[in-house]
Amino acid sequence: MINLLIMLEKIISPASLEAVRLLLASGNNFVVLAHKNPDGDAVGSSLALFHYIKNLGKNVKVVLPNAFPEFLSWLPSAGDVLFYENDSEQATAAIMSADVLFCLDFNAVSRVGDAASAVQESCAKRVLVDHHPFPEDSFNVKISHPEACSTSELVYRLVTSLSGEEAVTFEVAQCIYTGMMTDTGAFAYASARKDIYLIIASLLDKGIDKDKIYRNVFYTSSVSRMKLHGYAMYRKLKVYSKYNSALITLSHDELMRFFAAKGDTEGLVNQPLQIKDIRFSCFLREEKPGKINVSLRSVDDFPCNEVAAEFFNGGGHRNASGGELHCSMDEAVARFRLALQKYRKALVE
Ligand code: 5GP
Ligand code: MN
Repeated sequence: MINLLIMLEKIISPASLEAVRLLLASGNNFVVLAHKNPDGDAVGSSLALFHYIKNLGKNVKVVLPNAFPEFLSWLPSAGDVLFYENDSEQATAAIMSADVLFCLDFNAVSRVGDAASAVQESCAKRVLVDHHPFPEDSFNVKISHPEACSTSELVYRLVTSLSGEEAVTFEVAQCIYTGMMTDTGAFAYASARKDIYLIIASLLDKGIDKDKIYRNVFYTSSVSRMKLHGYAMYRKLKVYSKYNSALITLSHDELMRFFAAKGDTEGLVNQPLQIKDIRFSCFLREEKPGKINVSLRSVDDFPCNEVAAEFFNGGGHRNASGGELHCSMDEAVARFRLALQKYRKALVE
């Protein structure tokens, strides 16, 4: 057994740890929440914390605004998650009767979508655990560390700081590793700090099969998803070489034609960054007619979160952000071109 705790840099403040310790000791009902369109980190960090709190002998539920992609359904207790979109009554009841809401992987209450009003009305204390920059001021305890590779990394630090490495069960370890892996493109970016690899070493010690987790997440594609990605690359990729940028658009009709399921377009926005000199990539997905979901990715110091906030009603990390538009695809593309013009200097320098 590796004694990791003494080797890791202590980033969560003692005051925050003490506050969470007290809340966990005094409360009985806990809800773990994560952001809309939950990704591997949102689901991984939520289920890791769920298992930890459950193992403390407390009542705990994970509430997500809407469904997660099928490639996360193997995560332990994924089947116990409540989805606000499908079961708003039960989800609202859980939020209203909670003593504490753990808010994971988002920095503003609005990111939980339609569940936001229940969160605002609930008397529960709110604990933020997140790695997005610029967190809102609406949390009683704020564990906000943009330097962390993922919220899952922060949950690992939180759990081990509170209860030692014994609290990281095999289930907790699987969930943590999944979140860290998905938010770093399998440790390809946002993953240069050595602590990440110390944590991975300790998760391996818990018996996780990292290669199997990789295959569960990345190698369980349907045939139609592969064809959709091929189609998007061949037919729908537009390179704006004067701006070192690329755009992929998929209309609602195109998504229907390829039977696109939740998560089938995940990762698509990263692909154009493989092209030499491309520094900024945008993917516009017409979720339903008139509603465009925006995904942005960048390399180095190009701030796609600023572009997301200024042009796409969104935000996120410097190199991975998103937003949404209520307009036609043509109008969304026009908005993207406007953003390119505005940020031209930063893109070409
Ligand atoms: P994705 O492109 O994978 O949907 O999102 C990438 C990143 O941007 C994630 O960290 C996510 O939290 C953030 N993000 C996505 N959509 C939005 C949005 O509408 N608003 C904000 N503030 N962040 C978003
Ligand atoms: Mn995350």
